[in-house]
Amino acid sequence: MTGANRGIGLEVVRRLAERGWSVVLGSRDVDRGREAARGLDGVVVHALDVADPASVQALADRVRDEHGGLDVLVNNAGIHYDTWQDAVHADLEVVSEAMRVNVLGAWRMVVACADLLRPGARVVNVSSGAGSFGETAGGGGVPAYAVSKAALDMLTVKLAADLRSHGVLVNAVCPGWVATDMGGAGGRPLAAGAASVLYAVDLPPGGPTGTFTRDGAPVPW
Ligand code: NAP
Repeated sequence: MTGANRGIGLEVVRRLAERGWSVVLGSRDVDRGREAARGLDGVVVHALDVADPASVQALADRVRDEHGGLDVLVNNAGIHYDTWQDAVHADLEVVSEAMRVNVLGAWRMVVACADLLRPGARVVNVSSGAGSFGETAGGGGVPAYAVSKAALDMLTVKLAADLRSHGVLVNAVCPGWVATDMGGAGGRPLAAGAASVLYAVDLPPGGPTGTFTRDGAPVPW
């Protein structure tokens, strides 16, 4: 689980730990990750910055050594819900950072962990309706975020095709508008956002792959 020291990522970790699963909580700041994991059984905390190739490789190496493989990879880390700018006047450094974390971070995780994914494993890319052409319907706003999530959706389709023959399911999910540091006040509870992610974690072997859902229902690309 990437970006798991707070928000939706931490809530998903809690749910998986309650099931008795072994969970690797990835956190940029290990101390914050340990604080978040306090009281959760079966959760180990690893330093993980998905924008840093060495950090991602170190995590993959530790997972190999300590667990031997992965049943589920949740690419949850995300940044820059850039409500403060429009596409015409966008700060391209912000766009670049969003791409580096939201797209390349998830991609880098899959590349590094590809040979760890067990047959039947699930990869869940936490995307957003903000990246949906169908839901955007010609509207503006959050350009860095929206473009990065649209790219994450296409990455999901490509990975799903490449990993289908290995029995690995790769799906994108939108957690809905959730009251987190990113989502702000007024969004739905963490439990609802986490449930939308867990739908794709819990798909059965041979289940759908290359999909984009919210609460288990299709989101238009
Ligand atoms: P959040 O509360 O802002 O948490 C984001 C998490 O990502 C934090 O743990 C953060 O770590 C981590 N992160 C940021 N950059 C990272 C990096 N380079 N490497 C590793 N971790 C990094 O956000 P959230 O609302 O829980 O969002 C989780 C996911 O859901 C995101 O992908 C977001 O785009 C998506 N989403 C959220 C909403 C919503 O309404 N909240 C709606 C649609 C989609 P630090 O604590 O170290 O910063």
